Amino acid sequence: MRKDLYEIRAYNIKHNYNVTDFLEAYRLLLQKAIDEVWNKIVWVEKYDKEGKRRLIPSQPPKDKEFKHHYLRNLLMKDWSYSKHYVDSAIKQAYAIIKSWRRSYIKGERRISKPITRKRFVRIKETLYSLQNGKIIVSIKPNKQYLEFDISKAWFLSRAKGNIGELILNEKYLTITFRAKKKEKKVKGKIAWDCNEKSLDGFNPEIGWIKLDLTKLFHIHRVYELKRKRLQQEATKKPSIKKVLAKYSKREKNRAKDFVHKLTTQISKEFKDFIHGFEDLRKQSMLNYSKEHNRRIATTNWRTITSFIAYKSNIKFLNPKNSTKTCSRCGMINASKGAVYECKACGLRIDRQLNAAINLYLKMEGLSPSQKLFNELMKAWSGFALTGEKANEGFDELERSPRLVNPKRFACLSKTT
Ligand SMILES: [Zn+2]
Repeated sequence: MRKDLYEIRAYNIKHNYNVTDFLEAYRLLLQKAIDEVWNKIVWVEKYDKEGKRRLIPSQPPKDKEFKHHYLRNLLMKDWSYSKHYVDSAIKQAYAIIKSWRRSYIKGERRISKPITRKRFVRIKETLYSLQNGKIIVSIKPNKQYLEFDISKAWFLSRAKGNIGELILNEKYLTITFRAKKKEKKVKGKIAWDCNEKSLDGFNPEIGWIKLDLTKLFHIHRVYELKRKRLQQEATKKPSIKKVLAKYSKREKNRAKDFVHKLTTQISKEFKDFIHGFEDLRKQSMLNYSKEHNRRIATTNWRTITSFIAYKSNIKFLNPKNSTKTCSRCGMINASKGAVYECKACGLRIDRQLNAAINLYLKMEGLSPSQKLFNELMKAWSGFALTGEKANEGFDELERSPRLVNPKRFACLSKTT
């Protein structure tokens, strides 16, 4: 059966309660729970695919004796606040350890016990009450309550669904609203390859969508030059840091503004599509290229994906070999220049289009094949295998890509 999807929205209200002692006590309680669960982990030596020895942790102990008796009693000992926080802390400690374990197994984290540093308490739906527009949270049974009047809160008219979990910190109470997400019909998938000067999308029905990013490229370029000039004069001015900071803030804002408009347009034009992007989150950290253009492409990619994620459904794709693989036969070729050439099957295709098709195949969980390639290209009559500019005769019209508001910022070039 399908799990229901929920949409969670959070709103903050400022409060004036002094809850530092309570929050600190809870932080220590949670840490104690983590420590206890951590000590129960059993480590087993295993060998991975490459023959490297690795310690694999067991799941946190599930037995009732430990969880509901030993651990609960231990935590309850010096706890003077409401009892239900102890159960919350146990749950949270298990969740934290489980999430650490998942990332550790994936190789994203080291063997180091999770440490709680921030002071906050999650308050589940069952741990507060809502009376006459007031949220009442029990801190100490029959002694201390916190009241939050939300009857006149601005977000009530906006928020959808029911009030869910609350999060309390020193300054704010965060109120979450949980609403069932409406099932959206999915029209199709578009895979995007992000380059320094263009965003290249592919979908078999629409074809090749090429969005012009030269304006964005120039924003980065202009500030790059400004910074260089300034650094050359650096010896004279001690206030250079301030100016540099100002420049980089302006650059960011201008780039953000462009991307905001671009992504709004994409999500409107391709509504109900799932957008696939390469997952460069880890890769870019590891081999952060010195090459200027590549760096710009990564910066743009980061802004574009983070913006579009708010406006549309997105899926991250494994970037491995997306530019080197032949989208027709699957052969790996070194890619040089604007035209991708395959030594095995002779395909000549725009480099960026080739990458976008490869990403599309990944999105569908398919591997390249001659038959599949012909199938994907069927909708565009007259698709030319060569990377050269096509003759824009009558037959060529069908495969012109869609135009996304060319007047303002995004301009689509013709397919070749
Ligand atoms: Zn090939």
